[in-house]
Amino acid sequence: MSQTKNEYLESQNIDDSKYSMETHLIYGKNVSKKWDYSHHVVPPVTNSVIFRLDSVERGAEGFAEFANLDPLNEDSKPIYIYDRLGEPNKDLLEENLSYVEKGETAVTFATGMGAISGILCVLTKSGNEIISHKTLYGCTLSLLNNWYPRYNIKNIAVDLKNVNSIDEVVTEQTRVIYFETPSNPNLDIIDLDAIRKKVDFLNIDRNEEKKIYIVVDNTFATPYCQRPIEFGADFVVHSLTKGIGGFGTDMGGVVIGPKRFRDLLLIVRKDFGAVLNTKSAWTILTYGLPTLHLRISRQMKNAQKIAEYLEAHPKVDHVNYPGLPSSENYEIAKKQMTDFDGNFAPGSLIYFALKGDDAKQVRENGRILMNYAAKNAYTMTLAVSLGHTRTLIEHPASMTHSVIPADKLLEYGIDPGGIRIAVGLENIDDLLFDLEKCLEII
Ligand SMILES: *Cc1c(COP(=O)(O)O)cnc(C)c1O
Repeated sequence: MSQTKNEYLESQNIDDSKYSMETHLIYGKNVSKKWDYSHHVVPPVTNSVIFRLDSVERGAEGFAEFANLDPLNEDSKPIYIYDRLGEPNKDLLEENLSYVEKGETAVTFATGMGAISGILCVLTKSGNEIISHKTLYGCTLSLLNNWYPRYNIKNIAVDLKNVNSIDEVVTEQTRVIYFETPSNPNLDIIDLDAIRKKVDFLNIDRNEEKKIYIVVDNTFATPYCQRPIEFGADFVVHSLTKGIGGFGTDMGGVVIGPKRFRDLLLIVRKDFGAVLNTKSAWTILTYGLPTLHLRISRQMKNAQKIAEYLEAHPKVDHVNYPGLPSSENYEIAKKQMTDFDGNFAPGSLIYFALKGDDAKQVRENGRILMNYAAKNAYTMTLAVSLGHTRTLIEHPASMTHSVIPADKLLEYGIDPGGIRIAVGLENIDDLLFDLEKCLEII
């Protein structure tokens, strides 16, 4: 955008006084100095689906340039055409998301699921196979297990905490290693570095078309706590709906990865249509990202104290929080989960289960606790999602992961009685006060 002159104003040569009121109400003044946004400190929300192309030649140039990345000319002024192809709010957000995740490029999507299906659509075709960690967000499991078989794409679930489990299932058709770390909901930690080394070894004899790519869902950690690309992940995906958006007001998703995939990602977004709403892009850009470090560092402080409190509580059977030295892959978490200054940053989610004589009683005790919290705890809200200002508590087996049949939960790494807490920004004393009240009734 020009700082000193408005090219459109200068180019217009129309006398608007010659037209009717009806027409004026559509077009306004033909030229207006109020169109110059270059002095806004906060970018305006773009509400326009279409963009004026000025001339057929410029229109043709815009279409030719779309998804046709010129690496020598990346700072050239974009020619916007239609929201689904690209517009300023998404582009501004994408610049900041690729920067914070240390990736080359970012393409946003309407939701986290839009982003996950977008990158998997780019990397696979009929006949290919995906190797994934056995514990994943419920809708991702549904995508891989209920939809991909229709397209002849096979998902093979293994325990990626053991990196050698890849050797047992990898084939010529494997194209993607897919996982979350920490995983949703049970907070498994997967060794990014070890996966990179394994995939490098497997890729030695594979040409570009057969290469295996590592895709990491970094939603639980957020880039404040972990940047998987620094450890060799090829792609990072996020649900922007969660910690990055941060206020529970907007849905969004993003894929971050190598620049050479940007064109394909833009075409997938254009043709499958999971386009991030401009207003949501603006909200995440204006409120979410700038406050990320403040929110997550506060949530993390609260989470560490809650995890320690639960671990010491006689009615609690086990707690998983990557910040507890007792957690399974604590040393790996310490290595790969760090904040912008390099301090250990184990995130804001906690997974725990209460004691009970058998699995049924454990689940029943959990149900009683969550129902009590829903009615009596001011600082805990029974709701799905995470990374919110409020502390959210939920039961994965009957909510976020209900796609898994009850008798298969353990196979997927999910404790039927497990409780997930997504810690918010409240005062820690209030949170512990409410938790204590809830545990007293068990
Ligand atoms: C919520 C979530 C998603 C899906 O994101 P949406 O924005 O709800 O589509 C994907 N992965 C993880 C780990 C999530 O928690």
